[in-house]
This record gives sequence, C-alpha cells and structure tokens, in this order.
Amino acid sequence: MSAGPFSVQLRNVTKRFGASTVLNDLNLEVGQGEKLVVIGPSGSGKSTLLRVLMTLEGIDRGSVSICGRELWSCDSTGAARQASARQTRTIRSDVGMVFQSFNLFPHLTALENVTEGPIRVLKMPKEKAVSLGKELLRRVGLEDRCDYYPARMSGGQQQRVAIARAMAMRPKILLFDEVTSALDPELVGEVLAVIRELTHQKELTVIMVTHQMSFAREIADRVCFFDHGRIVEEGEPYQFFSQPKSARTQAFLKSVL
Ligand code: ADP
Ligand code: MG
Repeated sequence: MSAGPFSVQLRNVTKRFGASTVLNDLNLEVGQGEKLVVIGPSGSGKSTLLRVLMTLEGIDRGSVSICGRELWSCDSTGAARQASARQTRTIRSDVGMVFQSFNLFPHLTALENVTEGPIRVLKMPKEKAVSLGKELLRRVGLEDRCDYYPARMSGGQQQRVAIARAMAMRPKILLFDEVTSALDPELVGEVLAVIRELTHQKELTVIMVTHQMSFAREIADRVCFFDHGRIVEEGEPYQFFSQPKSARTQAFLKSVL
C-alpha cells in the first residue's frame, strides 16, 4: 500500500519538550491513500506526531515532508529548519485534523462551523460554501442539525460536525486523534461509522490514533505500535494483531484487548 508517492515522510525526527524526548529518531513513511492506524500507550508521543504533521508543533532534528513538500529540512548536523511561513501555509492546506475534544466554535451553528474555513481560508463564495456544508452534514447524518449550536448537540453529533468541518477544507491527509475517547460508549459507533465511510475514499490518506482495536483491524492497511517516541512494531492488521512480534506490543495488546 505504501508504493507510489508518499503523503508523509519523516526522517530521523526528534522532538523534545525540555528534558524529555517525545519523538525519538522517528522514521515513518505513509503512502498516498494509505490508511494507517497508530496505537500505543499514553504519553508515547502519538498526539505530538499528529500535531507535527498539522504544523501545530515544531521538531528539533530530522526532516518532514508532506505530499512531496519539505515542511522541515535538516542541515548536515541534523538540526531541523522549518519551511517559510508561506510554504508552511501551503503545506498545511493539505492536512486536516480531528481532535479528541471536538473543538467546535461554540458561537457558530453546525453549518457555520463547517463553512467558516472554506469562506475565510479558501475564499469560497458563501453560497457555494453553504451548499458544500449542507452536503457534508448530510453525509455525516446531520442534515437536520444545520442550525444547531454545539451546546445543543450530543458529543457524537459534535464530533461528526468536526469531521465534516475538516473535510470541507478538502484535505489530502486526514488525522484523527482519539476522536472517540471523550464520547459516551453508546455514541462511539455513530462516529466510527462516519470515519469508516470516509476510508472508502481511495485517494484520501488517513492517520488515525485510536484505542478501538477492532475498528483498527477493520479499516487499517497498516498498524503501527508506538512507544517512547518511536515505532516499535508495524504490520498488516491481521498479522499484527494475531502474531505481534515484540514483547512490548504483546503486553500492550493484552492490556487493551
Ligand atoms: P500520547 O498522545 O501518546 O499520549 P503525547 O504526544 O500527548 O502522547 O505526549 C508525549 C509526551 O510529551 C508526554 O510525556 C507529554 O507529557 C509530553 N508533552 C506533550 N505536549 C507537551 C507540551 N506542550 N509541553 C511539554 N510536554 C508535552
Ligand atoms: Mg494523545
């Protein structure tokens, strides 16, 4: 699946917060259209990895390319240097992210949350953005909630609006960071159903951090086990879950399954 052009390419990426090394000489390549699931213990650097790809976080060493463009390059000593602000904005426009906490604008309706980015950032005419927004809300099963404010919606509905909002920016890469972890159990299924539908888009690259192992097995082309800021083990889901090689992966899977 990772044949062909890469959507994401990290080389020897190190990221520190003070004295703690959160990404540790990390190498990762994600193919165009690949559906990658990242699992691993809390504090292992999964969110930091996604935040780097979303350009919300910098790195100290190594290089990062997104859709063939260098977001971070490194000199001969390995020190990382960020692309220009302009280039960074261009790169960011290829990436969308959905967070654990829904992060909707509370003062905007569901529809306005979805149309805000297209109108303000993509300079889409309002009429066109509204019809796109309605179509996306229909796809996530919320056509009857267009005029609702986030406070009047359930967590599952808010998260589906957040997914529609991310899709409205037409990303080539979509990042999901534990998007069902804050939801009541009975609302998890409706959000996973929306993500499952999105994964049918062949050209869309998806990187998903999740604890939903059966869902990972179902949608992933490849599963990575992350620990201490690097990939300890990776593989095709069936083989990964049925015959994990490393002792750390085995222990982790035993604790969550
Ligand atoms: P995960 O998503 O796998 O739980 P994170 O990427 O959120 O892990 O965090 C990895 C480590 O980096 C944790 O020890 C966390 O406390 C630390 N960390 C994350 N963000 C910051 C920050 N902004 N400042 C300092 N430490 C941070
Ligand atoms: Mg996290």
